[in-house]
Amino acid sequence: MKKIAVLTSGGDSPGMNAAVRAVVRKAIYHDIEVYGVYQGYQGLITNNIKQLDRGAVGDKIQRGGTFLQSARCPEFKDPKVRQQGIENLKKLGIEGLVVVGGDGSYRGAQRLNEEGIKTIGIPGTIDNDINGTDFTIGFDTALNTIIEVVDKIRDTASSHERTFIIEVMGRDAGDLALWSALAGGAETVLIPEFKKDVQEIADKIQQGIERGKKHSIIIVAEGVMSGEDCAEELKKYINVDTRVSVLGHMQRGGSPSGIDRVLASRFGAYAVDLLMNDETGLAVGIQNNKLTKTKFEDIFSSQHKIDEEMYRLTNELSI
Ligand code: ATP
Repeated sequence: MKKIAVLTSGGDSPGMNAAVRAVVRKAIYHDIEVYGVYQGYQGLITNNIKQLDRGAVGDKIQRGGTFLQSARCPEFKDPKVRQQGIENLKKLGIEGLVVVGGDGSYRGAQRLNEEGIKTIGIPGTIDNDINGTDFTIGFDTALNTIIEVVDKIRDTASSHERTFIIEVMGRDAGDLALWSALAGGAETVLIPEFKKDVQEIADKIQQGIERGKKHSIIIVAEGVMSGEDCAEELKKYINVDTRVSVLGHMQRGGSPSGIDRVLASRFGAYAVDLLMNDETGLAVGIQNNKLTKTKFEDIFSSQHKIDEEMYRLTNELSI
């Protein structure tokens, strides 16, 4: 393979730049020309494709977001629209494409693979909701961002004897909420994968107050309900001074953590290795600290699962 391209797609995540850097440098190291597709699949169809040299990815490893930019491009589901993108790649002689993104981006990559472009996926999303890998790029950074905020909120919660509800990202996956609840020592966590009664939460807070507890932190994944709705529900069962913090997009930003930079670098280099071996239709991942590859169809065949043991542990430690 003489020429490959790389794009970032879906929601941005810290570490995407480190992954693109690794793809570019690894390819150039092996005398392969590399192209960057700007604005995800949108840029593929509008031909926003530029060659990247080793300097193009200099000073990028530490930057959040994605310098290649990302875009949602629903038209890409249409085979005629995709064909335009494929022609743009073929005109430049590009045979392989690395796609950094989430589940939706992988579906686009799978289609391209069926239509003649060799594709490899790299899991880039803060949600950690992709099958075939223990971790996605950006999860660790987002988790650390949340923990920092939880620690700060705890200071004020304790000073004013308040109950704080912190709404974090996670529409369908509770990983960020669960990990931040365990790491931040939250009293309760609400995640989409497990139902919990608000009355049960109120009872727990009440018992805490009776034991002399000064504050409570509740972490709620946005997919369960909003922080405001959670506060309203709670009011039906208990009379406590409650405040809500919605963390929002700050969770997606920031310089990637060391873990995310290393993960992204390993994924990027491995994706190029796979293309060099003419492998295609695969997503890279990490399981038990070993790099893995999984067919796109196997990734889509089941729902991402939450770690039930960790959920139990979080509840046990927050008594
Ligand atoms: P995140 O986890 O951050 O949401 P994602 O990759 O799942 O990331 P999506 O918006 O679902 O984000 O998908 C990104 C892009 O992938 C879409 O805008 C679209 O261009 C393409 N895509 C999604 N689903 C398909 C599909 N079934 N066929 C072709 N392309 C698709």
